[in-house]
Amino acid sequence: MATVKLRDVTKSFGSVDVIKGVSVDIEDGEFVILVGPSGCGKSTLLRMIAGLEEVTSGDVAIDNRRINHVPPKDRDIAMVFQNYALYPHMTVAENMGFALRLAKISKAEIRKQVEAAAEPLGLMEYLDRYPKELSGGQRQRVATGRAIVRNPKVFLFDEPLSNLDAALRVKMRSEIRDLQQRLSATSIYVTHDQIEAMTMADKIVVLRAGIVEQVGAPLELYDTPANTFVATFIGSPA
Ligand code: ADP
Ligand code: MG
Repeated sequence: MATVKLRDVTKSFGSVDVIKGVSVDIEDGEFVILVGPSGCGKSTLLRMIAGLEEVTSGDVAIDNRRINHVPPKDRDIAMVFQNYALYPHMTVAENMGFALRLAKISKAEIRKQVEAAAEPLGLMEYLDRYPKELSGGQRQRVATGRAIVRNPKVFLFDEPLSNLDAALRVKMRSEIRDLQQRLSATSIYVTHDQIEAMTMADKIVVLRAGIVEQVGAPLELYDTPANTFVATFIGSPA
């Protein structure tokens, strides 16, 4: 069970206000997509939820507990990055089990949990290979598997498919959604791709220059866009 609440969250870098008062409620098990043009603050917002950036003001809460000052490793959150961020000198299994090794779990138990995550991702035969021996799609699956192994309350994805070619991107959208539904994992997924947002989301948050323009189900945004920015961005008929 995990809800995520953002209350009037702001972020400034020096005198530049990047996030200007964002409030969003995410329900348990929901797959929420944060979408908006490049530079609008999507990664910054995600990094504040992960604890990789401090909020300037406002509150971030998981299960109604304020976590503003909880260090990243204690947040029960796992993040999947665009560039996969795999360790090149470690095998797939070592990459996936890395967080568990830090938690001092036995080698046999780590292997068991890594295999449980690898199986549905089709990674069983790649466990002893190195990242450089894998395709982009396989690397993305390893990054996802590494997040799953940690059994977090909340998954964060920052443009995880944007380095993949179009056909693979389409395939992996449904892979990620299937996995998320099977785990009932509360997820926040960042993309600048409207089609990804429209096809994957339970709920879409449209961000523009650090402000939420609209929150709603994909069809709601399409049928009743709040303003011309949302209409144009989502591609509703004028
Ligand atoms: P997005 O992910 O939507 O493309 P970002 O969250 O990466 O946008 O960036 C939003 C804005 O904040 C950009 O103008 C970016 O240059 C700025 N920004 C992000 N991180 C920093 C930082 N550490 N220092 C200064 N400015 C930053
Ligand atoms: Mg970004």
